[in-house]
Order: sequence, then structure tokens, then C-alpha cells
Amino acid sequence: MQTARCVADRRPYTELSMHVDSLSFLGAELDLLKEQGLYRRLRVLGGEQQAKASFDGRQVVNLSSNNYLGLTTHPRLREAALDATRRLGVGSGSVRSIAGTMDIHMELERRLASFKKTEAVVVFQSGFAANAGTVAAVLTRDDVVVSDELNHASIIDGARLSRATIKVFPHKDVNAARKVLQDLPPNQRKLLITDGVFSMDGDLGALPELCALAEEFRCIMMVDDAHASGVFGQHGCGTIDHFGMHGRVDIQVGTLSKAIGSLGGYVAGSRTLIDYLYHRARPFLFSTSHPPAVAAACIAALDVLEQEPHIIDRLWDNTRFFKAGLAALGFNTGLSQSPITPVIVGDGALAMMLSDRLFEEGVFAQGIAFPTVARDKARVRTIVTAAHTREDLQFALDIFAKVGRALGVI
Ligand SMILES: *Cc1c(COP(=O)(O)O)cnc(C)c1O
Repeated sequence: MQTARCVADRRPYTELSMHVDSLSFLGAELDLLKEQGLYRRLRVLGGEQQAKASFDGRQVVNLSSNNYLGLTTHPRLREAALDATRRLGVGSGSVRSIAGTMDIHMELERRLASFKKTEAVVVFQSGFAANAGTVAAVLTRDDVVVSDELNHASIIDGARLSRATIKVFPHKDVNAARKVLQDLPPNQRKLLITDGVFSMDGDLGALPELCALAEEFRCIMMVDDAHASGVFGQHGCGTIDHFGMHGRVDIQVGTLSKAIGSLGGYVAGSRTLIDYLYHRARPFLFSTSHPPAVAAACIAALDVLEQEPHIIDRLWDNTRFFKAGLAALGFNTGLSQSPITPVIVGDGALAMMLSDRLFEEGVFAQGIAFPTVARDKARVRTIVTAAHTREDLQFALDIFAKVGRALGVI
């Protein structure tokens, strides 16, 4: 038998550079970001994702994670992951649709279906894959997506992949959404889609109004509840539960990467929808399934949501305390209704400066600017968790007051 031969090139990588730098235009783009004060280095977490954590070697109160319930380090999740690794190994070895569906993946889907009160659930590798894969699988170029302007990037990418026509309505403007729908032929297939909680502003989607609109105009109704699962509704069931909309949303998306503390995304809906996605959702068909440890940790997280509801209560106590504190200091905190509270300053460079100064003083709250938010709506985004103590939050408020005054924000 003949094996392919390959001569190893042992020159150091500095001698392997290309004759011309075909990617130099990317460097120019980065230089532009630097000029605008929008260039960011990655902050590196040393150790665990905790309410007080070490980023870039500095101990800070961490207001930047989506670890709402502190589950990334919960002992029950940690044990479940370790146990699954010992029993089942570290990888699934295949995509779901070939050899990579393990008992534990099916158990997680059953548990999530009962958590979401739907017939069935399919789990994806991430919330991003769940949104993009589902929208792209359900719609064709003949269809229309009617989407809130602040919907998550993964919804937008899914809509683009589907080749459907994309109609965007202004944020939470139900009348504008109605006008879009009125102008479409009645037999046109359309998907009406909103985030349950908007990730940059922390406000809630207009679910009751949009569900009514979907029924009136016979749209498929889809809600992305990534920031709501584990946070809103009974036992953290989500915004559909919060608003009493069970049975009126055809496609619910959730993530396992935020309050659930691990990694993944899922779609909850009818058995027909889920069966269809098993056959047509490309991330499901063409990308390997979770390691057993991830599925086991997520199942343990669902146990925690059921059995330790006081964690969710603590999240909301902290949320009320911190929001009231920021408002009392005179910051513009927008219209948030969730543990996400933006501190809106307008200018992108000022938001980054505020974030940097807070960090130097021991508070990590990420600066966010265009294109993630509108050019004149740059902000520092704060997210409190159940794991913060009152002392952590009071310390953060004191630093916000000091730095906010120094920069003339308040
Ligand atoms: C975070 C987020 C996602 C993506 O979830 P991941 O599991 O991190 O990929 C999708 N939609 C919304 C609204 C999000 O906030």
C-alpha cells in the first residue's frame, strides 16, 4: 500500500511569509478602528467565570457575563459534567444525523421540551446555530421575514441564508410591522420574528401584540428567548410563559450558553417542526453534536431551575437594587426590563473610555459601539447575576458614580 508523502518544511514561520500581503486591506480596516478609538483587545479571564473574577490579571466586579444564575461553576453542573465524561468520554464523534446522537442528547431534548411546555425540542451546538439553521431551513427565496430592527445577528444571518425577502420594522413598532404585513399578498408565507429580551437594551419584545398580529395575518411566529430562559417566567421558562403566550408561538429559540451556564442552543415547538429540522437544519446535519459533559451539565441546570428557585429570586433582587442605584445616580439606563442594564452615553469613543476607566477602578462593564448598536447609542452594558453580593453591587455603583462624574457623563 502506498502512503502519501509530504516533505516537512522546517523553516521558521517568519521565513514563510507570502510574496505579497494579500490581506493588507484588513490591516487598514483595523487601523481605522484604532483611529476611531474602537479597537478592542480581548480581555482574558484567569480562572472561573464568577461575579468577582480576574480579567487581564486584575480582580474586578464582573458585570459583563451572561452567567445570570452563576451556573457556570455550580457544583451540581460540575459534578454532572465530570460524571458524564468518566462514563461517556469527551466527544460524540459524529454529527447528530449519523452516529452522534447519544442517549444523553435525547434526554436533554426531552427535558427541554417539558421545561418549555412544547411537544418537542432539537438541540444545536449554539444559540447562533439554532437561529441561523432554523430560519434558513424553514424559509425559501419565495418567503418573507418580518423582523425587529434590533433582532440578534444570528436571525439576520439565517434570513440571509434562506434568501427570503427581509422586511425590517423599527424596534418594537407593532404598527409598522402591521403596515409591512398589510402590503404583502395574503397567501405569501411569512415569518414574524422578535427577540424575547433584546440583548443590548434589556427590554422585552412586544409578544402579546406580535402574536395577535401573527394570528391576524397568518404568519409563522418565532421568538428568540436567549436572554430570557432561566430569567423570566415560572422556573425561568422564558418570556412566552411570562406573557402567557403558550401555544401561540410556533418556533421558540433558547440558548444553553447564558443562564443555563454551559453551551448550546435549542428550538422548541411541534413534533413536526422538530422532525423537519432533524432533516433540514444544516448545523444539525453538518456539524458535530455536543460532548456528553455539555448535555449532562445542561440537564443538571434544568434540575437546579426546578429545585432551587431562590437563585432566580436573588437575580431579580440584585437586578432591582442595581437598576435603582444607577438611575438614582442620574445615568441614562434606557428602557430595560431585565437584568441587562445599559448605561447609554451616545459617543462610541466615550463609551469605550468609560468602560476602560471603570475597569481600572475594578469594575468590568463592556463598552459597546457601532455596529453592535446605533452610532449615537453607544453604551456600557451591565449585567448583574444571582451570584453578585450586595457589597459587589454597591462597590460597582460607587465606582460608576466616581468615573461617571469624572467623565462628565453625570
Ligand atoms: C446570545 C444570543 C444568541 C446566541 O446564543 P449562543 O448560544 O451564545 O450562540 C442568540 N440570540 C440572542 C438574542 C442572543 O442574545
